[in-house]
Amino acid sequence: MVRAEGVRKHFGHLEVLKGIDLTVQRGQVCCLLGPSGSGKSTFLRCINHLEKVDGGKLTVDGDLVGYRQHRNKLHELREREVAERRRDIGMVFQRFNLFPHMTALENITEAPVKVIGRSRAQASEEGHRLLEQVGLGDRAGHYPAQLSGGQQQRVAIARALAMKPKLMLFDEPTSALDPELVGDVLDVMRRLAADGMTMIVVTHEIGFAREVADTAVFIDEGVVVEAGDPRKILVDPEQERTRTFLSKVL
Ligand code: ADP
Ligand code: MG
Repeated sequence: MVRAEGVRKHFGHLEVLKGIDLTVQRGQVCCLLGPSGSGKSTFLRCINHLEKVDGGKLTVDGDLVGYRQHRNKLHELREREVAERRRDIGMVFQRFNLFPHMTALENITEAPVKVIGRSRAQASEEGHRLLEQVGLGDRAGHYPAQLSGGQQQRVAIARALAMKPKLMLFDEPTSALDPELVGDVLDVMRRLAADGMTMIVVTHEIGFAREVADTAVFIDEGVVVEAGDPRKILVDPEQERTRTFLSKVL
């Protein structure tokens, strides 16, 4: 579903991604770990067309990010085409970014109705089902300010799922939550993984990564330091840098 080969990205003189290699198979969960500033968010943003890749090759579901192939030539995607590609990718951020003036249900139905022309009735039915799925069936009419951080984050996940993405990206989805609210959000993600969603999750939740991820990838200073079975890498890593990082977050 996602293949990165030597992916590079710089901001001015700052080289943030220095050749990232990574593969995520369809239906698998990949957890990205690494110190703050190592390039994890930038990498997710590249996958989701929010940043332009400067070098290397990045494909999502076989399509080169940012380009379309036509008669053996590559053409840069137009804005509309980028928007189309991005519809297939759900993203959940550390901050929930819900629309404050809309109820939980309206947050979820907004894009399906406005962007892909679902009927209100159909979007609403689907929205209720998604709210049930994230354990918030009784909160449809609540506004974000009336929900806890964990509940807002679960609405944000439901909102992303409403577009029926083929890939879900999570950027530290539980980092901004009070500790007692983290579990419910991880439970939703765990179920999503069990249902076969392809997921890339930036997280410091080592327990979650060990239990749910098919692969763990440790990134430091814009390179993949170590990647593989989380039950190996997050328990008995080969690299000193991974060891040091784990000793800090555990
Ligand atoms: P992480 O998510 O691993 O903490 P980021 O990908 O957010 O790391 O950031 C990696 C580096 O890139 C940091 O040094 C950050 O300051 C820098 N950076 C990120 N986005 C931008 C930007 N838009 N302009 C300039 N520098 C940026
Ligand atoms: Mg980040």
